[in-house]
Amino acid sequence: MSDSVLIIDDSEAIRERIIRTLESFDLFARFYEAEDGLEGFKKLLSSPVDIILCDLEMPRIDGFKFLSMLKSRPDLQDVPVIILTGMNDRELKIKGLEQGASDYVTKPFDPEELVARVKVHLKIKHLQDDLKRSNELLLELSNTDHLTGLFNRRYLMDALDRELQRCVRKDGCLSLIIMDIDHFKRINDTHGHLQGDVVLQKVALNLQKELRSYDIAARYGGEEFVAVLPDATPNEALFVAERIRQSIQGIKFSGALTSLSITVSLGVATFPTRNCATVDEFLKQADDALYQAKADGRNRVEFFELQLHQGVPR
Ligand code: GH3
Ligand code: MG
Ligand code: MG
Ligand code: MG
Repeated sequence: MSDSVLIIDDSEAIRERIIRTLESFDLFARFYEAEDGLEGFKKLLSSPVDIILCDLEMPRIDGFKFLSMLKSRPDLQDVPVIILTGMNDRELKIKGLEQGASDYVTKPFDPEELVARVKVHLKIKHLQDDLKRSNELLLELSNTDHLTGLFNRRYLMDALDRELQRCVRKDGCLSLIIMDIDHFKRINDTHGHLQGDVVLQKVALNLQKELRSYDIAARYGGEEFVAVLPDATPNEALFVAERIRQSIQGIKFSGALTSLSITVSLGVATFPTRNCATVDEFLKQADDALYQAKADGRNRVEFFELQLHQGVPR
């Protein structure tokens, strides 16, 4: 029993009666009280609860205003609210339910009915909480990036490790492309984050389109993408990277983004090279090449070359 309840009613006598009833059934570890919607809302912000019993008619912030405040908060909107109404307040009951209350209890209340209804809604709340937790876990365990549908970073790292080992075993080669959208922050700043997300989705689609079915495309970070190209030689990988660059430069956006055109910078590395034995080192090489592409003016492809990064002129 670790649940907590908030009771909002302008009548102290009613609050006390409710608390005494609930106490006698051992349902809650903590009780919070408030005498109107505003005080109730403040209490809720400082101490989240599992269920709320709320009077409708109260001075200042009444039950309806309280409900609308609650429902506007994504973090609080799923807390069940049982409204307390007078026996003959048919219209108020309906309005309360329409505004998102889970149930109602009429005053003067029957203790057993009150407890039975509270139990039902606590049970639903617990089931919902469990569901939310498993969904979060599933999302974490899943392989895909939810925004773009590409593989996520977790999957990429596993796949890259696998491919690298296969490459060593078979004495083959493996290429890696890291791609970063140029001046993406400006796109967010100008068009807003939601439109920024649209751009990310479109970029992901174009990246995927330019790859073969056995290549792996992943969202590596915010606006960074990685493509893994098994068996691709440096020249083949450079060719693909250049095709991706052109494809993305050619994207035509619609709606609010009609006037937008975007470019990307890409860094390419091919395994095996000297000084590279791990996934992290391989990624670092492609990232160094990407850095070079940014430094050279963006909207271009650079290949990682050892001598370049050891200070030897090209
Ligand atoms: P550069 O050409 O040097 O790469 O400049 P940039 O502005 O692209 O680079 P910077 O790394 O400064 O900005 C990346 C921006 O990407 C900042 C961050 O707010 C944004 N971002 C990261 N993840 C997401 C996302 O999921 N959605 C949106 N819309 N923006 C994101
Ligand atoms: Mg009242
Ligand atoms: Mg970046
Ligand atoms: Mg960028």
